[in-house]
Amino acid sequence: MNYTANKDRYNNMKYNRCGNSGIKLPAISLGLWHNFGSKDNFENCKAMVQRAFDLGITHFDLANNYGPPYGSAEETFGKILKEGLKSYRDELIISTKAGWDMWPGPYGNFGSRKYLIASLDQSLKRMGLEYVDIFYHHRPDPETKLEETMHTLDQNVRSGKALYAGVSQYGPELTRRAYEILLNLGTPFIIHQPNYNMFDRWIENGLLNTLSELNIGAIVFSPLAQGLLTNRYLNEIPSDSRALKDGRFLKPSDITEHKLNKIRRLNEIAQGRNQSLAQLSLAWVLRQKAVTSALIGASKVEQVEDAVGALNNLNFSHDEFNMIDGILAG
Ligand code: NDP
Repeated sequence: MNYTANKDRYNNMKYNRCGNSGIKLPAISLGLWHNFGSKDNFENCKAMVQRAFDLGITHFDLANNYGPPYGSAEETFGKILKEGLKSYRDELIISTKAGWDMWPGPYGNFGSRKYLIASLDQSLKRMGLEYVDIFYHHRPDPETKLEETMHTLDQNVRSGKALYAGVSQYGPELTRRAYEILLNLGTPFIIHQPNYNMFDRWIENGLLNTLSELNIGAIVFSPLAQGLLTNRYLNEIPSDSRALKDGRFLKPSDITEHKLNKIRRLNEIAQGRNQSLAQLSLAWVLRQKAVTSALIGASKVEQVEDAVGALNNLNFSHDEFNMIDGILAG
């Protein structure tokens, strides 16, 4: 029940300033999208979060509908806080989001004021918190006026239930419009959460430049392509892997011979750098100046440890870049 954090936890982590805000985020952050639901082993969930904090990972990312079932990852995290981590609350950056389907009917999805205010209240209850550090709008809403959604982010901050605001999956133009609205309101819009990894480089086509120009932090999710860019699938599809255990977002059919061929060649480059493939993949996203943090998921304590090991070698030679680009283009 009692948890005392490692006293050396701040010795090796790298912290990057998040945009032009007052806070820094760890170069590696941990998300609770998968493997933290009520069906998962609680002791393993707790061990991963505690080990992460012991290694200097101060940022934990949630959303209203992480589980399954929806809401249960926030409950798991609330229980971990209650069993010791909460005494370190002022050393933690905890985020949550709303924007995807959460409860039935027209008020539990997308970007209305009705949804975002109720959802944050529910998230706080599930985690047993008075406030989150970052509250995100989880995805663009094609129907609700952006002004309504942004005014609600502002209200969630003004009410003291969130310290900072962010958006996820917004394209460059929408991000710029959100920025302008929030700037006028005086809301601390400090962070954007897009997906980014070697297999999915969409943010290189405009978003990263927009974020740099506006001085908004970028925390990139699925930097390991949900496990594809690790040693997980090199030889087989393990029975305890996301592809076999879950299969909703990463399907066995996604693991094609064409992809595996690239993964194996990337693994050779990683070996040449004395890194695991996961470490190479994390160093690769962190090479971008605009990237504040790589937001990983994990199913085991060792994966968290391995990820933090990426910080031992973040540099690439030109040859390595060219080889990686060549493999990815193939
Ligand atoms: P990753 O790309 O990091 O994939 C995580 C998976 O990779 C793990 O579950 C594990 O797979 C495998 N893995 C992790 N580390 C290692 C390692 N060192 N060696 C071998 N395998 C490893 O990220 P996620 O897709 O999990 O996303 C991370 C977070 O991003 C989420 O938890 C969430 O917070 C956020 N997110 C945000 C979204 C948004 O819309 N804003 C959408 C999706 C995610 P296995 O389980 O098979 O062991």
